[in-house]
Amino acid sequence: MKRAPRPTRKERRAQRGPAAAASATVHGDHGHIHCVACGRHISADELASSPPTATWLTCDHGGHFASCTTCMVQSQMLIATHERTGQPVRSAPARH
Ligand SMILES: [Zn+2]
Ligand SMILES: [Zn+2]
Ligand SMILES: [Zn+2]
Repeated sequence: MKRAPRPTRKERRAQRGPAAAASATVHGDHGHIHCVACGRHISADELASSPPTATWLTCDHGGHFASCTTCMVQSQMLIATHERTGQPVRSAPARH
């Protein structure tokens, strides 16, 4: 599989511009955790429970995305699209 060299974080940010950088807060830990696929609120307990009902997924350039374990296939597709296009992950609206 041919793949272009991965741009550095700085280059990628320059390509995407300030608007994209601002919307990239989904990459950070901003207190509230929601499933990227369904928008369900995920508590920290779920990520730590055994077996976990939610998990963290990581994108190509190190962003972390929470997902219900039941939504993982869908979440991985969203993240794959984000990696391919460089667009922010099209996460579902947050709900509680
Ligand atoms: Zn979910
Ligand atoms: Zn929430
Ligand atoms: Zn990413």
